[in-house]
Amino acid sequence: MEDYPKGQLEFEQRFSTERTCREYLRQMRWPDGFRCPRCGGSKYWLTRRELYHCTGCSLETSLLAGTILQGSRKPLQLWFRAMWHVTTQKYGANALGLQRVLELGSYATAWVWLHKLRRAMVRPGRDRLAGTVEVDEVYIGGEKKPGKPGRGAEGKALIIVAAQEDGRKIGRIRLLRVPDLSGESLTGAVKAMVEPGSTVHTDGLHSYLALSQAGYQHTITRQKESLGNDPLPRVHRVASLLKRWLLVTYQGAVEPDHLDYYLDEFTFRFNRRTSHSRGKLFYRLVEQAVAIGPVPAKNIRGGVRNPKHNM
Ligand SMILES: [Zn+2]
Repeated sequence: MEDYPKGQLEFEQRFSTERTCREYLRQMRWPDGFRCPRCGGSKYWLTRRELYHCTGCSLETSLLAGTILQGSRKPLQLWFRAMWHVTTQKYGANALGLQRVLELGSYATAWVWLHKLRRAMVRPGRDRLAGTVEVDEVYIGGEKKPGKPGRGAEGKALIIVAAQEDGRKIGRIRLLRVPDLSGESLTGAVKAMVEPGSTVHTDGLHSYLALSQAGYQHTITRQKESLGNDPLPRVHRVASLLKRWLLVTYQGAVEPDHLDYYLDEFTFRFNRRTSHSRGKLFYRLVEQAVAIGPVPAKNIRGGVRNPKHNM
């Protein structure tokens, strides 16, 4: 049963104490009851400092150990408000907005929190797209520098967009940054995002020609053949929404080192855009925050991506 608040009022009433926040996290982390991370035992007693003392191997572990909230000294209520704010804002939250809402003394804390939450926006072991998938390239960032026309513009990041066809609509998407437009980079990106055997629809760029050999049904639509109709409407729509989102939410001020995580955040939101309740998005974020490992602040500074989140 997915259990989440349906709106602002319910959220505020429900998570007004540390105890109710802890209880919610406990349910998420150990839905079938406590499991010792070392020996797998299920018997424990709770110490005075709210540590779970495993009766099997005597390991003392906290509810937050091994989650993205590990080591936080701030009240859980504040984290819950942060996760609620991030998921209920239509375009997401920037650090300044979060700092205001939580009344945090420091901008840096808000910034680090947002980066931690973004790490929780990648579902561990998420599957690849399948079926019929449009794939195209888009350049992000460096808007202020005059770019060269056509493919290849300086100061920009090259992103491969993959969008599943769902009738005439867009299904799920994936985004991946690549270093260049070589066949190796593009085939690698498609392999990371799309199940082999799927039909992949691209423009006539030569670098995509290796896709058939890599096990994909590759179809090419050239602009001139489709006369005015956009041959790849879904990826183009996704690319323009992505650019708009970066501009509206972050005023385009995305640190290049962290771009991958912003792409994860966009993907998380986009793939859940039809969730009827924003509460459901909140639920997913909390669920993933306890499912993935901790991220020390020093790793965030450098923007180093954990390899296990690469898919
Ligand atoms: Zn144990």
